[in-house]
Amino acid sequence: MLRAGFRYDRGRRERRRWRPTTSRGKITLQILLVCAFAALPGCGSGGTGGEAPNAEPDSVAESAAAGVDESSIRRHLAHLTGEVSVSDGDRDVTISERGSESARRAAAEYMASSFAEISIPARIREFEAGGLRGFNVEATLPGEEGGKHLWVTAHLDSVHNAGANDDASGLTSILLTAEALEELDPEHTVHFVAYDLEEVGLFGSSHHVGSTVSAVREREGEKAIIGALQSDMIAYEEGRFDAVLGTCDQAGPIDDAFSRAAREIGSPIKLREVCLGRSDHEPFWDAGLPAAVLTDGAVYDGYPCYHKPCDTVEELNVSYLRSMIQLTTAATVLLAEA
Ligand SMILES: [Zn+2]
Repeated sequence: MLRAGFRYDRGRRERRRWRPTTSRGKITLQILLVCAFAALPGCGSGGTGGEAPNAEPDSVAESAAAGVDESSIRRHLAHLTGEVSVSDGDRDVTISERGSESARRAAAEYMASSFAEISIPARIREFEAGGLRGFNVEATLPGEEGGKHLWVTAHLDSVHNAGANDDASGLTSILLTAEALEELDPEHTVHFVAYDLEEVGLFGSSHHVGSTVSAVREREGEKAIIGALQSDMIAYEEGRFDAVLGTCDQAGPIDDAFSRAAREIGSPIKLREVCLGRSDHEPFWDAGLPAAVLTDGAVYDGYPCYHKPCDTVEELNVSYLRSMIQLTTAATVLLAEA
């Protein structure tokens, strides 16, 4: 995510009436707090093995979330942060940072091939912005004819560090959410996108919204767009499984989907709703489209290794990240079938 004071801080807080928590967020939080600690009636069946009395049959969202496993999370994180090399045709490449053009290109190819492995076609869209060459990765899971469009996104680049939390955690989430969704037949089309050049000014997402998303809107109308969910820094926790959904009252159906998803899977994540920008969901807002950002309880700058060389996998809590991906998967299922 962007450092504070860059671009979207300028003059935006006044216009957006920056508020720490919305009233709806408080209600959401109360519901989640109740549901987080016990398998109570109305709180779903307790997710991963909870002993709920009168447990309801598994929902589609619950089944999809249950398939998210820690070994896949660790595998993607290891490849995206240079712990393990990736195969680039006939040679091995180590992605030890994702700031240089060659490393960003390698990371884009890793993402595209990972989508292809789970039978979701992906393409790398090159673009030029700010004197730099960028590589967005777009993978699409088509819905039924006449369905709407949802974007599930994260950012590809880092500030020339390993960028484990920022944002290999988000990249891992969109890969595993895609894998869970691929086994379903969603009514709506789900686009999984890894945006390049986020850290230097949201270039990849701005380019994408101005081209691909605008084309969908022109072709199918505004009502055909459900919105965009960005995951940025979702793997650091210090003693509490809490997280933040940045909505600024511009999330469309996304915040309600997260509340429902948390209940259905009995998520241990305590989610609060705030107004938060500084990531790739902002260009959607600028275009007047619904969007939100999911981030961990440290809320960007509270992460001790934010934009530092120590942003490595060792700093992350993989169990917490799994819960965050499960929640994202369940919310995506609900949005894609609604
Ligand atoms: Zn960042």
